[in-house]
Amino acid sequence: MRALAQNEDTIIALATPQGVGAIGVIRLSGKEAISITNTVFKGKDLTKQESHTIHFGTIRDGDKILDEVLISLFIAPKSFTKENVIEISCHGSSYIIRQIIQLLIRKGARPAKPGEFTKRAFMHGQFDLAQAEAVADLINADSEAAHQTALNQMRGGFSDEIKRLREELIHFASMIELELDFGEEDVEFASREDLTNLVNRLLKVINALIQSFDLGNVIKNGVPTVIAGKPNAGKSTLLNALLNEEKAIVSDIAGTTRDFIEDEIIIGGIAFRFIDTAGLRETTDVIEAMGVERTQAKMKTASLIIYLFDLADTSIVEVNKEINLLENAGVPFLKLANKLDKADPAFIETLQGQHSDMLFLSAKDPEQVEKLKERILELVNLDKFKKGDTVVTNIRHYDSLLQTKNALTAVIEGIDNQVTNDFVAMDIRQSLHYLGEITGEITTDDLLANIFSKFCIGK
Ligand code: GDP
Repeated sequence: MRALAQNEDTIIALATPQGVGAIGVIRLSGKEAISITNTVFKGKDLTKQESHTIHFGTIRDGDKILDEVLISLFIAPKSFTKENVIEISCHGSSYIIRQIIQLLIRKGARPAKPGEFTKRAFMHGQFDLAQAEAVADLINADSEAAHQTALNQMRGGFSDEIKRLREELIHFASMIELELDFGEEDVEFASREDLTNLVNRLLKVINALIQSFDLGNVIKNGVPTVIAGKPNAGKSTLLNALLNEEKAIVSDIAGTTRDFIEDEIIIGGIAFRFIDTAGLRETTDVIEAMGVERTQAKMKTASLIIYLFDLADTSIVEVNKEINLLENAGVPFLKLANKLDKADPAFIETLQGQHSDMLFLSAKDPEQVEKLKERILELVNLDKFKKGDTVVTNIRHYDSLLQTKNALTAVIEGIDNQVTNDFVAMDIRQSLHYLGEITGEITTDDLLANIFSKFCIGK
C-alpha cells in the first residue's frame, strides 16, 4: 500500500453526468461515508449492514423528504477506493441531486476534487499510475479500438512489461552500487557484457514502445485522414455522405470550401478523423492560395490520404500529375474517381488501364460510399493493434520513455568509454527513475496533482 492520503476525510460527488437523467448516482468515499449517510437516511441503520448490499429508503432533511433512494454500501477495503463507499441512486433531477449533496456536505462530507476517487484508489494500492490514467481513457474512449487499448492498459498489460524490465535493471544497479562500496578495489560484480546486453534489450523494448505511440495516438485520437482534390471534385459531398450529416458546406461555386472541417467517423471499430480541405488547384486567389498551402501542410500530418477527382471534369494528364504530387507524402493513399454517374465510359477504361487500384463511385450515392469504407479499412494497417501488442497512448508515458531511452543510451556510452562506476550508476539510477515514473513507483505531489486534475469531478 502506498502512503495514505493525509486527510482521510469523506468526499462526495455526483458520479453520473450533469443534467437530467432517469437516475443520478451520488458517491461518497471515506471513513465516515456510511455514518454520514446514515444521519439522513430513513429505512435501515446503515452502520449495521454488510458490505455489497443495497437498501431502499428515503433521504430526509429534518422532517422534509428529499427523495426515495437506493443505497449501495461497500465496506473498506472492498471498494473502488478501498475506503468505505456509499452510492446513492436517486431520481435524476438536478434539483434533487443538489439538495442531497448539499445536505450531506452539511453533515460532514466534503466536495471531491477532480479525479479524487481514482486518486484515492491509486493511493491505497488499488492499481498503479498507468492503470489509473487508463481509467480516464476508458471513460473517454469513443471507439472500440480506443476502448480495447485503455482496457488492456487498465488491466496492467502495459505496466507489467515496464515493471519486469525495471526489476532486471534494479538488479544490475545494486551490483554496481556494491562495486562502489568496495571503492579502490578492483572488483566487478556486474559483468559489463551482461549489463550491455540487458541495456540493449531494454532499449529495443523501449524503442518499440516509443514507436507504438504513433499508433496509440491514432487509436486514441482517430486516424487523421485528408480528402484532397480540386474544388468541386465532390470532397464536401463525400465527407457529408461519410458523416451522414451536412457538416461541410456543399456548393456549386468552385473553391467555396476554404477552411478545414474536421470530423470523426467510426469505421470497423476504428475512429477516422476527416479533414476536409480547400482544393489543390494552383491559383492566384490569395485566400484560396492560403488554403492550398495549408492543404499541403495537412497532407504531411495525415495517416491516410484520399485523392478525389471529378471524372467529368479532369484530364488523364491532370489526374496523373496530381497523383504523383500526393503519393510522395509516403502515407497510405487512395485514388478515388467521383461522379461516376456523369463519366465517359472510355475515360473510365483508360483510367482503369493505368490505375488498377482506382476506386470509382458517385459520392451522392450512399451505397457506393460503403464500398469506400471497406477500402479505407484495408489500407490503414492496424494489424499491430489487433495482435494485442502493448501500445502507448499517453503523452506522459511517451515522455518518460524518451527520457529512459536517453539515460539508457548514456549507460551504454559510459561503458563503451570506460567511464568510472559512479557515472554508470548514476545513469542507471536515472533510467530507473524514468521507468518508475510511468507506473507510479516514483511519484511527486506535482506529478499526481497534474494527472488527477485532468479527470472530471466524480471520477
Ligand atoms: P468540393 O468543392 O470538392 O467540396 O465539391 P462539392 O462536394 O461541393 O461538390 C461540388 C458539386 O458536385 C456539387 O454540386 C455536388 O452536388 C456535385 N457532386 C458531388 N458528387 C457528385 C456525384 O457523385 N455526382 C454528381 N452528378 N454530382 C456530384
